[in-house]
Amino acid sequence: MAKHKTHYEDCDVLVVGGGMAGTGATFEARHWGRDMKIICVEKANIDRSGAVAQGLYAINCYMGMQWGENQPEDHVRYARNDLMGMVREDLGYDMARHVDSTVHMFDEWGLPMMKNEKTGRYLREGKWQIMIHGESYKPIVAEAAKKSADKIYNRIMITHLLMDEAQENRVGGAVGFNMRTGDYHVFRSKTVIVAAGGASHIFKPRAVGEGMGRTWYAPWSNGSAYALPIAVGAKMTQMENRIVLCRFKDGYGPVGAYFLHLKTYTQNANGENYEKKWYDQTKELVGEYIDHHPTPTCLRNHAFIQETIAGGGPIHMVTTEAFQDPHLETVGWENFLGMTVGQAVVWASQNIDPKYTNPELTTSEPYVMGSHATCSGAWVSGPEDLSPPEYFWGYNRMLTIDGLFGAGDTVGGSAHKFSSGSFTEGRLAAKAAVKYINDKKAEDIKVTDKQCEDFKEAIFKPLETYQVAQNEITGGTVSPSYISPIQGLQRLQRIMDEYVGGIATNYMTNGNMLKRGLELLAWLEEDLEKVGAEDLHQLMRAWELKHRALTSQCVTEHTMFREETRWPGYYYRGDHMKLDDDNWHCLTVSRRDPKTGKFSLEKVPVYHIVDENEKRKAS
Ligand SMILES: Cc1cc2nc3c(=O)[nH]c(=O)nc-3n(C[C@H](O)[C@H](O)[C@H](O)COP(=O)(O)OP(=O)(O)OC[C@H]3O[C@@H](n4cnc5c(N)ncnc54)[C@H](O)[C@@H]3O)c2cc1C
Repeated sequence: MAKHKTHYEDCDVLVVGGGMAGTGATFEARHWGRDMKIICVEKANIDRSGAVAQGLYAINCYMGMQWGENQPEDHVRYARNDLMGMVREDLGYDMARHVDSTVHMFDEWGLPMMKNEKTGRYLREGKWQIMIHGESYKPIVAEAAKKSADKIYNRIMITHLLMDEAQENRVGGAVGFNMRTGDYHVFRSKTVIVAAGGASHIFKPRAVGEGMGRTWYAPWSNGSAYALPIAVGAKMTQMENRIVLCRFKDGYGPVGAYFLHLKTYTQNANGENYEKKWYDQTKELVGEYIDHHPTPTCLRNHAFIQETIAGGGPIHMVTTEAFQDPHLETVGWENFLGMTVGQAVVWASQNIDPKYTNPELTTSEPYVMGSHATCSGAWVSGPEDLSPPEYFWGYNRMLTIDGLFGAGDTVGGSAHKFSSGSFTEGRLAAKAAVKYINDKKAEDIKVTDKQCEDFKEAIFKPLETYQVAQNEITGGTVSPSYISPIQGLQRLQRIMDEYVGGIATNYMTNGNMLKRGLELLAWLEEDLEKVGAEDLHQLMRAWELKHRALTSQCVTEHTMFREETRWPGYYYRGDHMKLDDDNWHCLTVSRRDPKTGKFSLEKVPVYHIVDENEKRKAS
């Protein structure tokens, strides 16, 4: 242990993860907390980290309130519709009313925004999206965070939250290790804002072997955003609401600009509009939700999946018409250059020129996120002026642990935030965290050396395990005394894939399969005590795996609890195939007892605040 030097840092606001939400939080914390000590800790390097590392071609959440384009209410209705009714409208409204100001700052900071030549407004790709030349999106927001923080720590993975030993249920900071130096870092902090992104690679990906890592979602997002709060007993919500994406096959290139700007459309292998074919069957399952406009994302996936099962694949995006227009052809290619250049490479390698050949689409393996067309994550307090009593406990975006805040993918119930909304939510969380400190809620926090030393031992244990047990290997890589992170990861992915509704079963699961999945996850948890790491990189992999495994348990528990198929196209409960508004028009909330490791689940009312308020005003 002595070879891992320990560094202590005391601060007021600790931001875990310097992606979109984390940079927003770091920036805003300085605005409200001029004299406070603000630290941001990032696993990679904030200049190129998180889901926006490669850049983006569109900002997907912009109201355009100054031009009367959309109002926050419109966005709430949109997100509610897309998530089949299940969103926290207080959180969504709060984000939407502030998001434009965030985008205007991006513009001031030099993010190249495309403009509509006729109106001078931002160029719309769709009702909510505006187009950018966004290759440098991430370095631009990172600069704002760097100028705001007392210190940014890159290459440190946070593995555990510290808890106050003087007052129950209050956070005291976080600990982690530097993946380059092997040093141990203790951050004792009055508040912690978790902004560590979503979770990829918990379900077996389509691309395995030589293609491993080629997923739609960022491969380095490993569920720390969920595992950190779950481990200390914070409540989580909607963890069953995993997302499946329909994207260009193999490269996972984005389709938004294609549908919205290029007006391309999909068809089956026979050139038919297959979505229509599945209308009656979908109506049987979800009732009038299929008649909503726009069609909820999961239901469009549903038609794709059913058509493929019925033998109508491959499904194609019809690009050959739009690409005859040189301007649209340029937009089609530039769309990839700004964010997913790999798709262009895949097409080149497969001799696909979209001007002459319609490229194939696919549905991805499931991911866990809180900011896209999905809303898994932590159960947080909303803003005081909007939230009903069940949704409010003092500080905006505070989890059910005092002093612990969340933003972006971390926060559940508030879908369709995307990059701009996540940054905005980081700002909201930071403002509340500063207020929490100013209200003297973070006085006399006690974090003993013992707590820190215990975590140190646990963190570096996989290195010790490897050191001791490697000599027992007589051939290959299989050890009698430890498993490697990749072995553990592949085992986790198979469990999730085969039992919890991944691609192996066409996203199908049921109560019995979930029960079995939970048993297998419990045994995996036991074996992960014996994960071995040969170097610091593998140590990171070991901790990523542990975070993924805990996240997976929570996802499985939630999927078991909700006895209906609320989002066909994201997953199916074969034993409860229909949407059941009578019994399940509610949010699901879980808590894992940190002492026993047992989860308990409850139903919490979903309040339709926007239109209810309007109805009340009218009556
Ligand atoms: C493929 C893809 C395409 C998208 N396209 C668009 C688009 O076109 N337009 C749009 O507006 N939005 C888009 N989004 C959504 C947008 O990227 C996300 O909403 C946003 O990045 C979420 O912000 P976040 O801060 O929660 O997560 P991230 O931005 O992913 O940041 C999380 C950060 O936490 C760090 N981290 C993780 N674990 C730890 C740990 N244990 N310790 C320390 N640091 C840690 C990560 O390295 C990362 O930097 C897209 C997302 C994806 C995945």
